[in-house]
Amino acid sequence: MKTLLLYCLVLFIINIDSQLYAQKNESENQGKINTDKMEKTKEEWKKILSPMQYFVTRENGTESPYTGKFDNFFEKGTYICACCGQELFESSTKFNSGCGWPAFFDIRSSKNVVSKKDVTHGMVRIEVRCSKCDAHLGHVFEDGPKPTGLRYCINSAALEFIPFKKD
Ligand code: FE
Repeated sequence: MKTLLLYCLVLFIINIDSQLYAQKNESENQGKINTDKMEKTKEEWKKILSPMQYFVTRENGTESPYTGKFDNFFEKGTYICACCGQELFESSTKFNSGCGWPAFFDIRSSKNVVSKKDVTHGMVRIEVRCSKCDAHLGHVFEDGPKPTGLRYCINSAALEFIPFKKD
């Protein structure tokens, strides 16, 4: 009788162990499949972002005009998301709009920047966000230069800059 009980107990433990293993594998696989998104808690974002970066990107804030580091900045390179590093804009599409924020007439890729209707502050605007980490970047308006006629009005705090390598 004792042997039978012991046998049942061993089977029971093996069963639980294999279930836990299966669950662990499943969660690891989900992590691998979902490589296009970056999700963090508010606390995690606060640890890696400056207060202004956090205010703009995670709380849909807007920096004061003419204060951002890329407003009057025209070096050649790529602008990436300050939160997740995804490529967002190229310097070749940046222009001086005079509005007080960095302005671009196009985005790096439609996969990287997503548009969303924004009805806050008594206005109807099109907001733009990073597709990977959902950072608020700024807004897009239809008063830009050719060839697109668009003006992506972006907060400097949402961007970092990677200069092109000089040969
Ligand atoms: Fe991002």
